Amino acid sequence: MTMRYISTRGDASNSPRKSFTEILLGGLAPDGGLYLPESYPLITRAELDQWRTLSYADLAFAVLSKFIDDIPAADLKALVDKTYTADVYCNVRSGDDASQITPLHWLEPGLGLLGLSNGPTLAFKDMAMQLLGNLFEYVLARKSEETNILGATSGDTGSAAEYAMRGKRGVRVFMLSPHSKMSAFQRAQMYSLQDENIFNIAVRGMFDDAQDIVKAVSNDHAFKAKYKIGAVNSINWARVAAQVVYYVKGYFAATRTNDEQVDFAVPSGNFGNICAGHIARMMGLPIARLVMATNENDVLDEFFRTGVYRPRGTAETHATSSPSMDISKASNFERFVFDLVGRDPVLIRELWAKVDSGGGFDLSKTTRFVDLPKFGFVSGKSSHADRLATIRQTYEKYGVMVDTHTADGLKVALDQRVPSRPMVVLETALPAKFEETIVEALGCQPERPVAMQGIENLPQRVEVMDISIDAVKSFIEQNVRV
Ligand SMILES: *Cc1c(COP(=O)(O)O)cnc(C)c1O
Repeated sequence: MTMRYISTRGDASNSPRKSFTEILLGGLAPDGGLYLPESYPLITRAELDQWRTLSYADLAFAVLSKFIDDIPAADLKALVDKTYTADVYCNVRSGDDASQITPLHWLEPGLGLLGLSNGPTLAFKDMAMQLLGNLFEYVLARKSEETNILGATSGDTGSAAEYAMRGKRGVRVFMLSPHSKMSAFQRAQMYSLQDENIFNIAVRGMFDDAQDIVKAVSNDHAFKAKYKIGAVNSINWARVAAQVVYYVKGYFAATRTNDEQVDFAVPSGNFGNICAGHIARMMGLPIARLVMATNENDVLDEFFRTGVYRPRGTAETHATSSPSMDISKASNFERFVFDLVGRDPVLIRELWAKVDSGGGFDLSKTTRFVDLPKFGFVSGKSSHADRLATIRQTYEKYGVMVDTHTADGLKVALDQRVPSRPMVVLETALPAKFEETIVEALGCQPERPVAMQGIENLPQRVEVMDISIDAVKSFIEQNVRV
């Protein structure tokens, strides 16, 4: 069976169908849409039965083979085997089994935490990004090409990208971050990397200033082509595909037979993580409900409750204690809406013409919105006070420390939980990453994985710059020979 990808905004004449490796290195489709499989591959009952006992790497190979038909099987197998090994995902809670890669930790019967944050940067983004690093290296070598990844980060994405790409042939990373705005731990995580292909740039400004520079450089098409500027943002299809795997693994861990159903609760920001859950469900994984949790930035919760999608301006976006969910516009949401509206690219172009010009849309009066329950989504939101209370209660009741984002997911999961089905909450970061709020909630420091103790004392490698597009461009010119 061949697997081809289409754009959410495409039509057959202007958007040719692409293969997996053709879209791997890119971001948006040329028409501005996002790539999705032409149709979702299905997971048969026989496959579920065969897959139940597979290791994470073997399961990843089985699932990803449904999405990738232009990498020879033996090569793909070697790539996933190299990616999903226990020594990469070693930062597990004591008592959890690192060889599971994403161990399920039962808080009580029927309520589990799926450990997705045991990788090198202690956030779930490692799960997909580590695979992306190996896929990039492989595909670039095959094409004899290079790429220079340019990005802006306020924390999690940038560090996950750097740890995935460090030492990879054919790839350089230029990562902008706001100077002195990240925590000492986050700075140490990124800036202590000494790999020659990793370049940290601290911009004397805010995250938005860094983001604006990245946009400006990427919009200079001549510069972009000459210096082979690429990105690894959350709309990258391979990241979404890699995330489908842990829903399958989590389903097996939470059930005894393939007749059972599971609910997943997902702390959400750009809708990438839960989009993978939606795809797993469309493929036939027995997921009853996808419980989407937001923080105070509740643009997605509002949509699932009302049918109105109203992206906020940056001025309306709150800085919260679950910062990786502080988004105003959910970049992967278009993928879900494409399915919701019956895969109508004309309608998607209409709706996103409004979004891209700063507006929103209202599906509440349409039959599409009536169809929403068929997709299994329910939603809720969580506040700073909810986060603190959830962190406290979870620690007191179960002796388990959760991070602020996971706390948002857990809070909404508890609101939505039904006795008849297991609820699996995705753990999207470890508490060590967000010490300040843990101290506020519990009055004590979270435990740090051994490998990260004292990283603040390591020598750092970072270039500090003013908010200047030209300064960033000339830094890239100096470090990339063309
Ligand atoms: C990125 C991130 C999220 C949000 O995930 P999306 O895929 O953007 O919805 C939630 N929690 C943490 C810790 C993250 O790093």
